[in-house]
Amino acid sequence: MKYECVIGLEVHVQLATATKLFCACPNHFTREPNVNVCPVCLGLPGSLPTINAEALRLGVKAALALDAEIPPVMKFARKHYYYPDLPKGIQISQYEEPVAVRGALEINDNGEKRRIGITRAHFEEDAGKLIHSQAVSNVDLNRTGTPLLEIVSEPDLRSPREARLYLEMLRTILLYAAVSDCNMEEGSLRCDANISVREFGDARLGVKNEIKNMNSFRAVENSLTLVYEELCRQKADRENIRQVTWGYSLDTGKIFQMRVKEDANDYRYFPEPDLPPLSLSRAMVDEIRAALPELPAAKEARFQREYHLTAYETGILVADRSLADYYEAVATAANAPKEAANWVINEVARTLNESGLTIKDFPLAPAQLADLIGGVRDKKINQPTAKKVLQMIIDGDKREVAAIVAQDHLAQVNDTGAIAAALAAAEAKNPAAAAEVRGGKTPAAMWFVGQIMGQLQGQGDPAAVTQIVAAHFGLPPEALAKKKK
Ligand SMILES: [Zn+2]
Repeated sequence: MKYECVIGLEVHVQLATATKLFCACPNHFTREPNVNVCPVCLGLPGSLPTINAEALRLGVKAALALDAEIPPVMKFARKHYYYPDLPKGIQISQYEEPVAVRGALEINDNGEKRRIGITRAHFEEDAGKLIHSQAVSNVDLNRTGTPLLEIVSEPDLRSPREARLYLEMLRTILLYAAVSDCNMEEGSLRCDANISVREFGDARLGVKNEIKNMNSFRAVENSLTLVYEELCRQKADRENIRQVTWGYSLDTGKIFQMRVKEDANDYRYFPEPDLPPLSLSRAMVDEIRAALPELPAAKEARFQREYHLTAYETGILVADRSLADYYEAVATAANAPKEAANWVINEVARTLNESGLTIKDFPLAPAQLADLIGGVRDKKINQPTAKKVLQMIIDGDKREVAAIVAQDHLAQVNDTGAIAAALAAAEAKNPAAAAEVRGGKTPAAMWFVGQIMGQLQGQGDPAAVTQIVAAHFGLPPEALAKKKK
């Protein structure tokens, strides 16, 4: 028996500042342990925190990109717990008065859109890291005090798949807003989930289970699926559902129990005495809002409106801001938005997927791709040749498109005389095929199209070739049109 799945996500995103949240230590990923530390982030006696203005600005920017409200005053709070990677014994966080409340984002499940509420976003300093090897455990405190924004969703998600879509969209928005590199492998974006099940139609929430510290989309969807199935089983068997915290191993693809909670953690939050309440001026918030870039939902709507692209096309193009920018540059330069979408989605995105490159490393500048698209439109080269030239440039050819076409003699053959001559040669070579066509076997005419294209080294104008072959055999040109996929 299946039950309704209720999921909320807590996402920690590391803000892309130059320095840490409360001290001047560098904030970047370093392999050498314990080098980016000072008395403040180590929590040595007598040291005092000061708030990093850039972190503040990025946190507000992220919250505004998530359509959240920024209350006029925010406060910091101490969260108490002991862990070997937290030498201070406290974490400076926010409790009752966070930087942002009541945000939302929209997920899109194959065209079906749903708005997912965001309860709050608050600042928190990160803890260090324990690195376990066989015999010993080492502590690396480089990460201690790096600025995090914790983004807490409402329990609005109804399936592990929705949780994944939410996390993907959240990451896309944060990347658009340029507040974090969102590198999941390096831990810049980490996700905890809570999940419960209940009878359909029941308004009350069931007992919550948690899954900690996931850093991939796959981990989120897979682990939630496994815990959901486990909770459904327990409920169907009328077991007493306990408050379990789970871990997930990407290696084995399995969940494991970390601990069973008797009651809620008591972190004994209290106001951070070393940092005063902070009021954010309307002017500052408005200035940050005005500087926000066009966000994914708005860009998607504009691409559909201005360029007449489909939801499928905009979905692919807008998922990555750099790809969207690249597309728009090609579409504008070629003055051909639809063709540009086809090329970017089918050729560019495919090449990037296969090679693992990002669009920033893609060897073809937007103007070059626009040249190819314009060349096909103006009948200077045909489509297969254009793809060949694209591949040559991807493979390292440094010449301009026009130079490759001219020097390698790749121009399209539009000369009807040359096409007719190739047709005559093909017919002389295989009179039987010609007889078949004349006898009513229309598809055999395609053999002649192929022969002519071969003779012209693949550079014939496909439309002209088809037309001449059709006319020669007295067929309507549509008879030879390629079947649309
Ligand atoms: Zn420091």
